[in-house]
This record gives sequence, C-alpha cells and structure tokens, in this order.
Amino acid sequence: MSEQNCIFCKIVRGELPSNKVYEDGDVMAFHDIRPLAPVHLLVIPKLHVASLAECTDEHQTVLGKIMVLVPKLAKEHGLNDGFRTIINTGRVGGQEVYHLHVHILGGPSALGPMLRRD
Ligand code: 5GP
Ligand code: ZN
Repeated sequence: MSEQNCIFCKIVRGELPSNKVYEDGDVMAFHDIRPLAPVHLLVIPKLHVASLAECTDEHQTVLGKIMVLVPKLAKEHGLNDGFRTIINTGRVGGQEVYHLHVHILGGPSALGPMLRRD
C-alpha cells in the first residue's frame, strides 16, 4: 500500500473526513469508523509506516510521542478506570489498515479477555 492510496494518509492529508480528536505536527488521533467499544480511538503517526514490523530507530521519537499521548486521550475521553491499547501487526496480528495505528478502547464496562481461550 503506497502513501498515495493509504486510507490513513488520506485522512492526514484531509482527502478523507475523520472525527479528529488530536493533531500536531507528527501525530493524529480520531474515532474509529466502526467502534468496538463505547470509546474507540486510533492514534497514528502522520508519517506513513506500514506497521510496527517496519519500525526502526528513526521512528523511536514518534512512537514515544504516541505512547505518551495515549493516556492523555484516554483521560480526556473519560476512561478513568482503565482502557486497552492494541496494535495489530501483519497477517497474523489481523491488521486491516497498513498504516501503523494504536487502538484505544474503553468504556464503562470491562472489555473482557484480551483473546478468547478456545
Ligand atoms: P486494524 O485491524 O488494521 O488494526 O484496524 C483498522 C481499523 O481502522 C478498524 O478498526 C477500522 O474500523 C478502522 N478504519 C478503517 N477505515 C477507516 C476510516 O476510513 N476511518 C476511520 N476513522 N477508521 C477506519
Ligand atoms: Zn499511510
């Protein structure tokens, strides 16, 4: 997936709408279009990086920025009793959009187990 066709790059460029909750020079956050919990945000680097598997030392600063932003956004959205962060990576991780993103999920009730035990 090139930057040209990438859905999240299009959101960064303003070519696709999003329900934005945060933006600075390096990072953007917006509501997931198909929320899986009462609060479901996505935090992305503006720079196109396909997944966590493609991250290298040059991404350290933006990854740090994202991780520090996560609890601030969680608090702003009322997630005072905990939340879950998910980064799906590659085929095995079930990644659908190949532009690195951190999910923030939460709401009044517990989210249940991280993965189902079969
Ligand atoms: P993944 O499975 O790659 O970790 O998650 C991709 C997420 O992106 C999904 O939760 C999906 O609902 C969300 N998503 C896909 N397309 C769009 C879009 O155009 N706008 C927004 N806001 N979210 C999207
Ligand atoms: Zn992208």
